[in-house]
Amino acid sequence: MRYVSTRGAAPELGFADVLLAGLAGDGGLYVPAATPALPGLTGVHDYADVAAAVVAPFVGDDIDADTLTRLCHEAYATFRHPAVVPLVQIDDRHWLLELFHGPTLAFKDVALQLVGRLFDHVLAERSERVTIVGATSGDTGSAAIDGVKGCRNVDIVILYPAGRTSEVQRRQMTTVDSPNVHTVAIDGTFDDCQDLVKAMFGDAAFRSEMRLSAVNSINWARVMAQIVYYVTASRALAEAPTFCVPTGNFGNVLSGWIAREMGAPISDFIVASNENDILTRFINDNDMSTREVVPTLSPSMDIQVSSNFERLLFEMNDRDGGLTAEQLERFRAVGRLDVEADQRAEFIDGSFRAARCDDDQTIAEIRRMHAETGLSIDPHTATGVAAARRLGSDRPIVTLATAHPAKFPDAVRDATGRQPALPEHLADLFDLDEHTVALPNDLAAVQSLVRSVSRVGA
Ligand SMILES: *Cc1c(COP(=O)(O)O)cnc(C)c1O
Repeated sequence: MRYVSTRGAAPELGFADVLLAGLAGDGGLYVPAATPALPGLTGVHDYADVAAAVVAPFVGDDIDADTLTRLCHEAYATFRHPAVVPLVQIDDRHWLLELFHGPTLAFKDVALQLVGRLFDHVLAERSERVTIVGATSGDTGSAAIDGVKGCRNVDIVILYPAGRTSEVQRRQMTTVDSPNVHTVAIDGTFDDCQDLVKAMFGDAAFRSEMRLSAVNSINWARVMAQIVYYVTASRALAEAPTFCVPTGNFGNVLSGWIAREMGAPISDFIVASNENDILTRFINDNDMSTREVVPTLSPSMDIQVSSNFERLLFEMNDRDGGLTAEQLERFRAVGRLDVEADQRAEFIDGSFRAARCDDDQTIAEIRRMHAETGLSIDPHTATGVAAARRLGSDRPIVTLATAHPAKFPDAVRDATGRQPALPEHLADLFDLDEHTVALPNDLAAVQSLVRSVSRVGA
């Protein structure tokens, strides 16, 4: 399997190189040169076995079948539910797909538990090491740390804004006691952390000296791993469902769209936004224009530039990388992206609907769900349930439950009057020692820390 860049000016690569590269050299995102058909899955029921079969054509010859199956089993053995991602029926036509039974309680574990193991395997084969650096406002950092904490060939440094994550989120990162895991509390905002990471990648000498790598949501391997649960959920229902996806970066819903392209029985998608509603405005009103990010109760969706949308745009442009690059350049310059009516007709109409859910509606939905079913849902999931209920479908609807309610206890307690309990494996989270370093918002200080902990070349 070969991969091409959405901006058409980077070399084609195989899976292992795409995995380690993250972003393409021309600033684009890697996509498979051709979308494979879904493999036959008769008699395959175990989630890890389905995962190995579904991702195999994307991995190609870069990892042998037995190794891939073993890595999938190891990744999904970390989930606390025997079904890994159980479907829970909430009324006669509506299901929740619970994606939060992984180690850090958010759907990012589904991808990152596998991606960490893929990294370690590929690096071991090549006798190489990398240093992963990343910035987090909460969920991504802990999921990335947990995905690589056992890796021998990866050191990871995660920057987070001091005092601006929830205590659960911070402790999930800082209490991991592993020699390759380093967390840094930056005296600044999430944007400052992100700028520091970008500056490290922009420093070519530092980048190659430290062999910097990233596991952010534009990494193809994350999109790939997320395809699997759309396959398992749609197979479990008698009729092709509508999937409702709480989204920010368009990563999760893009995986669903690819699953449908591969032949999974899926009717269409509902995109759920919070007040940062660029995707809803685009889908409903053809208005893809950026606005200021506003903080909401569903912080992992507080995004105004949905980076993974670039992969769908590339398809809408009939895989013309030059045109895609040009459009994105204009988008960056003027803050607005226009697509042709015939592109919308082919790719958006009939496939995507969207709804926006503000914080009041989010709280109301958590309360309503708790009153009607006894289930507690987190604020991200609540935006999805609210969108699904508002838009409806003549098909079964599956709403993706992207975080465990205990990850966002304040909103859930405000809505239901009850504090959701942490699962047993995190019950001692508040007793464990924290390992973290505090640094000013200063590139030289951060680079010197990365240099001191990285074992690249050691
Ligand atoms: C990251 C995240 C999302 C958004 O996922 P995208 O891939 O950006 O669409 C939604 N909910 C939770 C809980 C998340 O952590």
